[in-house]
Amino acid sequence: MYDVKKVIIIGSGFSSLSAACHLAKKGFEVEVFEKNSTLGGRARQFKQDGFTFDMGPSWYWMPDVFDRFFAEFGKKVSDYYELDRLDPGYQVVFGKDDVFQVHDSIEKIADRFEKEEKGSGKKLISFLKQAKRNYDVAIEDLVYKPGISPLELITPVTVKNVGLFLTNIRKQVERSFTSSKLRSLLQFPVLFLGAKPEQTPAFYNFMNYADFGLGTWHPKGGMIQIVNAMVSLAKELGVSFHTDHPVSEIITKNKKATGIRVGETVFEADIVVSGADYHHTESLLQAPLRVYSESYWKKKVFAPSSLLFYMGIDKKLDKLAHHNLFFDVDFEKHASSIYDTPEWPKEPLFYVNLPSSSDQSMAPKGKEACFILIPIAPDLEDTQALRDKYYDIVLTRMEELTGQKIKEHVMFKKSFCVLDFIQDYNSYKGNAYGMANTLRQTAFLRPKLKSKKVEDLYFTGQLTVPGPGVPPALISGNIVADMIAPL
Ligand SMILES: Cc1cc2nc3c(=O)[nH]c(=O)nc-3n(C[C@H](O)[C@H](O)[C@H](O)COP(=O)(O)OP(=O)(O)OC[C@H]3O[C@@H](n4cnc5c(N)ncnc54)[C@H](O)[C@@H]3O)c2cc1C
Repeated sequence: MYDVKKVIIIGSGFSSLSAACHLAKKGFEVEVFEKNSTLGGRARQFKQDGFTFDMGPSWYWMPDVFDRFFAEFGKKVSDYYELDRLDPGYQVVFGKDDVFQVHDSIEKIADRFEKEEKGSGKKLISFLKQAKRNYDVAIEDLVYKPGISPLELITPVTVKNVGLFLTNIRKQVERSFTSSKLRSLLQFPVLFLGAKPEQTPAFYNFMNYADFGLGTWHPKGGMIQIVNAMVSLAKELGVSFHTDHPVSEIITKNKKATGIRVGETVFEADIVVSGADYHHTESLLQAPLRVYSESYWKKKVFAPSSLLFYMGIDKKLDKLAHHNLFFDVDFEKHASSIYDTPEWPKEPLFYVNLPSSSDQSMAPKGKEACFILIPIAPDLEDTQALRDKYYDIVLTRMEELTGQKIKEHVMFKKSFCVLDFIQDYNSYKGNAYGMANTLRQTAFLRPKLKSKKVEDLYFTGQLTVPGPGVPPALISGNIVADMIAPL
């Protein structure tokens, strides 16, 4: 038994929900305080006129991490939601009638590679063998570590493959594949880590195994099913939830967290854990108690922000899969507009999500729920005029590339961009998914899970370890719970 009993968790994103479940299982009394009226953080849903949209994450990758999470509580994913493996997992539109479909087995993908570049099928199989080894090491030995010391990265396998930390994904991919399409395909998964392929250690090619080996899945009804499952599990474990409760202060006494303030009310606790944006959480403390300065945050590489459009369409759309990447323009130039010289991209790459193409519950019969995401640099100017301009650019491209009228079939649309990320999630510079996992921002080099200045104050989520994405958020909540109460 531990002396400390009461834990307050700020925010209800996946990391907070995971921490809540793990801490409740360990015997703590847990209360979650969320500023918004819905639980799940960025994984909110927007519904209108019978259409359903996942507003944030839509790619269900690394299903083993979800299995492992529920297994910790003696449960299975199938106790809560129905999961389908998508085929194709996704498709990449390189031009009109030039589409690459990523199917649901390595063999099928290798055959497709071979058609694109002679000899690349075999190379892909051996590339993925190494990627799988890295995946196993990452999951077994690295990502569940608390990021306290560089020694955590030292395992027999990482020592043998130290070169993979010294070279980057881009170089590694370019060594084996010459086709620009295959190179883009193999570099795309690291975008989930929030950084450019040339900034990402080659060890992270385990994301290629996650992509081609483990596949892309869809929870029927959308990603909100994961939130509902975790909230339901948390409630079973005794966690209580307060929505519409924006925390305005973390209260401390003699440099120890003792509770939070919401409006005029103080809620006391023995421990405070925050899954809200790290930079925002520190702003809830008096300045001398913050560990990281403004100049620290300014120097960090953040994951992109995004311009999003959620649209109800009054007909079925052709030539589109559940997940579609429009890579028909220069990848480098778009990446440079995010990371090198932050500006609105001249010719944007974009992503189109069409869940109703494989899940009829997402839209009325004969219609389509569609969302579009354009990754952009955080902190860019965000105006209605810019949103309208980019809406027109991407819809026109979509019409040309898929050979069909779309604009006149849009029944309604809602947009979401930098200012919404700041207002809705207190996100630093309006980042969409946290701090990038570059070589200098990996593991022990990320903001720490435990405050060095305030006792009993902990952090979790996409700005700390292990990093951005839903599976890492689940892992982050697990690690912080184990740090608070080691097994
Ligand atoms: C558009 C988009 C697409 C994405 N796509 C994918 C994808 O396809 N697959 C994938 O794996 N990942 C994806 N991600 C990333 C993934 O969604 C995130 O990494 C993950 O959900 C982050 O969880 P979190 O718990 O760290 O933070 P969040 O989900 O941001 O949760 C933090 C919570 O804290 C709350 N909060 C903030 N301030 C306060 C306060 N003062 N008081 C109380 N509460 C507060 C916020 O409202 C929020 O609910 C995407 C993200 C976005 C935005």
